[in-house]
Amino acid sequence: QLNAEIIAVGTELLLGQIANTNAQWISEQLAAYGVNVFYHGVVGDNLKRVEETFQQAKGRSDLIIVTGGLGPTDDDLTREAFQTVSNLSMYEHKPSMDKISEYFRKQKSEMTINNRKQARVFTDSEVIENKVGMAPGMVVSMNEQKWIFLPGVPREMKQMMRDDVLPYIQELMGTSEMIKSTVLRFIGIGEAKLEHEISDIIQSQQNPTIAPLAQNEGVVIRLTAKGNSTEMVNNLLQQGKQNILDRVGKFYYGVNEETIECKIVSLLIENHKTIAAAESLTGGLFTERVISVNGASAVCPGGVVCYDTTVKTNVLGVHEDTIVTNGAVSKECALEMATNIRNLLKTDIGISFTGVAGPDAIEGKPVGTVYIAICSEGQTIIEKFTFQGNRDAIRRKTILKGFELLFN
Ligand code: ATP
Ligand code: MG
Repeated sequence: QLNAEIIAVGTELLLGQIANTNAQWISEQLAAYGVNVFYHGVVGDNLKRVEETFQQAKGRSDLIIVTGGLGPTDDDLTREAFQTVSNLSMYEHKPSMDKISEYFRKQKSEMTINNRKQARVFTDSEVIENKVGMAPGMVVSMNEQKWIFLPGVPREMKQMMRDDVLPYIQELMGTSEMIKSTVLRFIGIGEAKLEHEISDIIQSQQNPTIAPLAQNEGVVIRLTAKGNSTEMVNNLLQQGKQNILDRVGKFYYGVNEETIECKIVSLLIENHKTIAAAESLTGGLFTERVISVNGASAVCPGGVVCYDTTVKTNVLGVHEDTIVTNGAVSKECALEMATNIRNLLKTDIGISFTGVAGPDAIEGKPVGTVYIAICSEGQTIIEKFTFQGNRDAIRRKTILKGFELLFN
């Protein structure tokens, strides 16, 4: 058994400017491998306090994973602090240095002394290649302890964990048993309904185990399989997934990190369709999410944020009468918004969002009232919703519902 501790280095974390999602993610991975995580620590970019934190970990944990503070700037102090605690010397790791030099050559910019710092690693450490960034990671064995240093940038950290650290930990655990999880994502079905539809499978199934969870972005099911080879585990997961999709496949949109906007964009690409949104309460968030997907340029030429009624009328050409008679939060207005954005940007599909995000009611309509219209050739959908929650939650739910309607 390994007792693990995760230390996140960074003042931003202490100031609450970012959340410690690294520790959360790493814990989740370690749990799946049967590693006990006993402590999460967060420490600012201060040499003395990072040293103290490392000393404490040295006295109590078998496996210590440190994220952050490996960068080039003066406030990146992880190496310096560990040097004091371990008395290990450091050297410049040539392959990492070559990569950094190459980067600066390509960028045609000057490399500073500080940038060299990123290639420094501890003597006798195992260097973990950074495939998506600069600073390499390291595994250091000290007495019976293992220290693992990873960059703070979540994308770089996750890549190293998946490719190198988790297989290494599995080896450390000394079991031939593999554990692997996969997450299936669903939209348009509630957690209770989903659970009901597959309750017999959940109950009878031991490997993989099946756990439904409600999340911000719809519902997910986590499958966790055990076996003694990668192939075996993958087969079990594949079979488990198939059993579930046979029941509720029509609500399934993706696996693991795949998002609903990825799915929508790929469906649009497949069908050679384009889309544009007229957004009132969502203020461009829907379009932002579509355009954040690689390849979105093929499906989304742009959109209009029409928060104020004057923009609805002047830019989108919604009739003033419509607004005077029915209000801006109405199915009539939503319909004109969707029809007009489709015509204006010459897309196959027009979608519109109008509603009351709060905190105050408007036009006598309560907070949470939302209309979404979708207009495409020969088909129009207009739906009214009443969402619960604060302004943020209502806007988020509105966008998600938009994706759901497009998915169906
Ligand atoms: P860099 O080379 O980019 O400086 P680094 O290893 O020094 O990497 P930090 O400077 O500590 O890492 O963090 C880089 C960025 O990664 C931060 O600005 C932050 O956005 C993100 N980050 C750092 N630590 C965490 C964490 N514990 N959880 C989530 N995000 C984090
Ligand atoms: Mg940094």
